[in-house]
Amino acid sequence: MSRPAYKRILLKLSGEVLMGNQQFGIDPDFVAELAKEVKAAKDTGLEVCLVIGGGNIFRGMAGAARGMDRAQADYMGMLATVMNALAMQNALEQIGVQTRVQSAVQMDAVCEPVIRRRAERHLEKGRVVIFAAGVGAPYFTTDSGAALRAAEMKCDALLKGTSVDGIYDSDPKKNPNAKRYTKLSYLDVLQQGLAVMDATAASLCMDNRLPIAVFDITEPGNIKRIVCGENIGTIVREEV
Ligand code: UDP
Repeated sequence: MSRPAYKRILLKLSGEVLMGNQQFGIDPDFVAELAKEVKAAKDTGLEVCLVIGGGNIFRGMAGAARGMDRAQADYMGMLATVMNALAMQNALEQIGVQTRVQSAVQMDAVCEPVIRRRAERHLEKGRVVIFAAGVGAPYFTTDSGAALRAAEMKCDALLKGTSVDGIYDSDPKKNPNAKRYTKLSYLDVLQQGLAVMDATAASLCMDNRLPIAVFDITEPGNIKRIVCGENIGTIVREEV
C-alpha cells in the first residue's frame, strides 16, 4: 500500500458536496460514498480531522441578502454544519470508522464541545474527529473554521475537496479556456482574489504555513491520491 505523504490532515468538504445530484440537503447515498473515500485515506495510516460546511442547507449571507439579520442567519448556518457533521458521522460509523463530533456551538445532547486535548486523544485512538459549527461565531465561514482547527490540531495540510479539480484563473464552468494552476503561493491567492477560500481563512493558513491542497472530491480515489503525494489539483503554500 502507498505510504501517506502526511501524518495528520484536515479535510474540508463544502456542504454542497453532500447534496450529490440533489439541489438541496443531504443525499445519504452520496455521503456513504464520501465516507468510503475518507476511510480509504485513513486506512493508509493517516490521522483525519474533518470539517464540513453548511451551504447545502443554509448560508448566512443568503439569509442576510433577503433581509435577515446577518448574525442570526449565520447561527442558522452553523447549525446546518452540525447536521452535516452528524450525517457524515453516521456514514463513517456504518462502515466501521470510529468518530467523534466536536461542535464550536455547545449542544451536549448531540455531540462534544471542541476540546483540543480531547480531540488529540481521539486521533491517537484512531478516531476521525469531525469539527462542526465553524469557529462558533457569526461573520466567519467553515473555511476559517477549517484553517483554525487545522492550525490548532497541528495538521500537516488542509485538503479542500470541491466539485472543481483545482484553482483556475477564471471560472472553468463558464470559461472553457480557463487555466488550472498546479502551484500557487498564499500571496497569489490573496492578491488575485482567487476563489479558493475567503481571505480570513487564506491569511490564517499563510500565517501558520499550512499548505492547502484543492482537489475534486467527486472523483473516486482522489483523497487517497492526494494524501499519498500525487500531484492532482492545486497546492497553495509558501514557496512555489
Ligand atoms: N458560519 C458562521 N461561522 C462559522 C462557520 C459558518 O457563521 O464559523 C455560518 C455562515 O452563515 C455560513 C454557514 O454557516 O454561510 C455555512 O458555512 P459555509 O458557508 O462555510 O459552508 P460551505 O460553503 O463550506 O458549504
